[in-house]
Amino acid sequence: MSKPFTEPKPLSPVQPVSLGLQDRFQFRCHKGIACFNKCCENTDILLTPYDVLRLKNRLDLSSREFIDRYTRDCELDAHGTPGLKLGHKPGSQACIFLEPDGCGVYQDRPAACRYYALGMMSLRRKGSPVDEDSYFVVKEDHCLGHIEPQEQTVGEYRAGQEVGRYDDANREWRRIILKKRSAGPTVGRPSQRSFELFFFASYDIDGFRAFVASEGFRKVFELDPDEHRKLLSDDEALLQFAFRFLRQALYGEATIPVRAQAVGERGQRVMEKLAKNAQASAEERAKQQDALYESLLDEDRFGAREE
Ligand code: SF4
Ligand code: SF4
Repeated sequence: MSKPFTEPKPLSPVQPVSLGLQDRFQFRCHKGIACFNKCCENTDILLTPYDVLRLKNRLDLSSREFIDRYTRDCELDAHGTPGLKLGHKPGSQACIFLEPDGCGVYQDRPAACRYYALGMMSLRRKGSPVDEDSYFVVKEDHCLGHIEPQEQTVGEYRAGQEVGRYDDANREWRRIILKKRSAGPTVGRPSQRSFELFFFASYDIDGFRAFVASEGFRKVFELDPDEHRKLLSDDEALLQFAFRFLRQALYGEATIPVRAQAVGERGQRVMEKLAKNAQASAEERAKQQDALYESLLDEDRFGAREE
């Protein structure tokens, strides 16, 4: 059942009604429509970690190459938490992947493109242990899809756009961001290192894989060998592990067992081996990652597991 949406923005294209999965709305987008491609000519697409994973694999690029070529930096919140948006074609606001006959990466387009003309919001109500998703219609003047004679439920639309897989893959990441936001600005700005760590584990999946493969990582974290092997060969499993890692590194949650003895060896030796084994492809990036790895394995960041 529809209910009033409490925070409508004045002049916002967001319709002031929050929808559930069973609620219906009128919309159809198709190639023959007069406004075809209009929405992709003026874009502001926030990328999630799973979007980056899908796109960089589609384009057969490393995550770093993809970030450098196709994205622009942004801030996810008032703290300045770093995020990524999809890039534009030079001198315009058009999406970098827009082609005359439509989206050039359609099968792997980001979640935000799949959802449009719906938006999604996750909230955790006070006292509730779970997040609740709600949806809203975004009605922009140029979009004629809203007058097409087709109605569907939010659930049917989501299924048609295959967004469930994206939402599942990004759920833990959204929780991490919600937790960061709910900490509020009064606790002070997070450190630069926390920002770098968040960006690295969220978006640079190939750099993160090299980190997990490194000897230094295995010396500090105690992973079952089968689990470790799976992480190195399965991008989606690795991404979920990256979010576990973030919860441990940012919030001190004991999500990954830590070897007490190895954590005690905070000296040069672990760091040298770590740097040697990290497989960064560019020299400058390798230097930056070595510095980052060093901070990631700082003994102050993790609680050692009792043995
Ligand atoms: S990725 Fe595709 S659908 Fe999304 S804005 Fe770009 S061209 Fe449009
Ligand atoms: S109907 Fe809306 S979403 Fe579809 S092409 Fe036109 S402007 Fe884009």
